Amino acid sequence: METNVYDVIVVGAGNAALSAALSASEAGASVLILEKAPKSARGGNGRVTHGGRYAYGDIKGVRALIPDLTDEEAERLEVGRYSVDDYYGDLMRISQGRADPEMTMILAQESCPSMKWLVDMGVKLEVNYRGSLEKDGKRHFNPRVAMPWSPMGGGGGLNNQLFRIIEGRPGMEVRYETKAVKLLVDGTGCVCGVGVKDTTGFHDLQARAVVLASGGFQASLEMRVKYLGPEWDMVKVRGSRYDTGEGLEMALDLGAAVSGQLGGCHANQVFLSGPDVEMGDEAYAHDYHLGILVNVLGKRFVDEAADYRRHTYARLGREVFAQPRGIAFQIFDAKVTHLLDDRYQKARGVTARSLEELADELDIDDKSSLLATIQEFNSAVQEGEFNPGILDGKRTEGIEPAKSNWALRIDTPPFLCYPVTCGITFSLGGLKIDRNARVLDTEGKIIGGLYATGDILGTFYYNYAGGSGIARGVVFGRIAGRTAAAERNR
Ligand SMILES: Cc1cc2nc3c(=O)[nH]c(=O)nc-3n(C[C@H](O)[C@H](O)[C@H](O)COP(=O)(O)OP(=O)(O)OC[C@H]3O[C@@H](n4cnc5c(N)ncnc54)[C@H](O)[C@@H]3O)c2cc1C
Repeated sequence: METNVYDVIVVGAGNAALSAALSASEAGASVLILEKAPKSARGGNGRVTHGGRYAYGDIKGVRALIPDLTDEEAERLEVGRYSVDDYYGDLMRISQGRADPEMTMILAQESCPSMKWLVDMGVKLEVNYRGSLEKDGKRHFNPRVAMPWSPMGGGGGLNNQLFRIIEGRPGMEVRYETKAVKLLVDGTGCVCGVGVKDTTGFHDLQARAVVLASGGFQASLEMRVKYLGPEWDMVKVRGSRYDTGEGLEMALDLGAAVSGQLGGCHANQVFLSGPDVEMGDEAYAHDYHLGILVNVLGKRFVDEAADYRRHTYARLGREVFAQPRGIAFQIFDAKVTHLLDDRYQKARGVTARSLEELADELDIDDKSSLLATIQEFNSAVQEGEFNPGILDGKRTEGIEPAKSNWALRIDTPPFLCYPVTCGITFSLGGLKIDRNARVLDTEGKIIGGLYATGDILGTFYYNYAGGSGIARGVVFGRIAGRTAAAERNR
């Protein structure tokens, strides 16, 4: 047992943890951050992200977050707006009404103020042109397609900036290769520290409050099988190998309640050629909505464009995983190749001058079925204007499954195909907290001294609205740090 008593120990060093740590420090607490990974691999899944999802009003709101933006640059941006109600509505709709209304509203309402707080703490943001469209000399943004700004350098940039701020602040310490293995509890049942394993062995560290921010359990094979089902043993893991769920297990041992969909996960399509773990963002095959998806039987199996990609991608990985051999093929023709993300150029795909040649090149069980599927799809495509910047309603009719938007015939060579599989991003089920980020037990009572934020929380059901992961970590991290610091002398 070390004799030093920290005001707040934060478990994890991703964007959620770092936000909690900064917030606690801002409120005057001494803070120790425990990172299981070595320094070279610090920062969890946040390192490979792009940006978040935040409610904002107009260009003035954007300029408050990017003070360096010149008048000329601002003049060229058509940023639209994304209100708190839009944000709340998207999250509730996507979770089929299952999400907790109070927590969802906090996330939506606090998303932009929390970003502004980070900016005030010294984080720099930049305009994120990815996903915007050039028209009439202006860049047009649809926030449901992509947010107009992101942290400078993306999620990795956000982490690096936060580490730099933290390393320069007195009263803050980070320990690497230090894994939390248990929560210490005092005679009143309140959490009073963390048992850790580091390179020298096991130790107990004392604290007046503990914030759990150690991510989801998606990198643990055992926990995937236990909570998601036996078929999830073989899935590729998109993010950090260190997110193996000890934080969740430690809290469950104390009687913590679960919320979110414990048997569900965020899982999207990744290039089959990608690595099995820590695939990063390069393996993300996210332009399926511009083409069609077929399985090894040569059949379409899902509406590729039921909604904006940011509202479908997190559930379609599961649909692919459920297909024979757990793989599928994304097929495009020359009309859309200029719209495909750069990642496609780096991935291993197949190019063919005819559909017959494409069918021959693919490792597919039924080639004639593939040709029949494409023919049937092409006949079902309705006329209308194709516009990838909005839900254009250019759809198919008379086939099952339909394609509800962006339906273009696959008829212009060269044809391109990319084999894809499922990559798990994070688990959806996790800890239940109150509006002050205090962890609740199964009787709805507060577990004294214990707070949580980020992917360890259970917030989402069935699906996920792209960008809300980073936002959730920062919003509830800020709240958790503040509350933990304020309640440390309770
Ligand atoms: C490839 C990819 C792309 C993504 N893109 C986006 C995006 O563009 N926008 C978005 O909003 N979200 C995105 N996400 C989701 C986003 O990364 C997460 O929602 C967010 O980073 C979660 O933050 P976190 O701090 O809770 O978890 P993490 O960032 O995963 O951090 C968890 C931390 O806890 C540490 N840890 C784990 N166990 C222990 C332990 N026992 N003891 C001590 N430390 C421990 C880990 O090492 C790590 O430092 C993406 C995820 C992936 C994998």
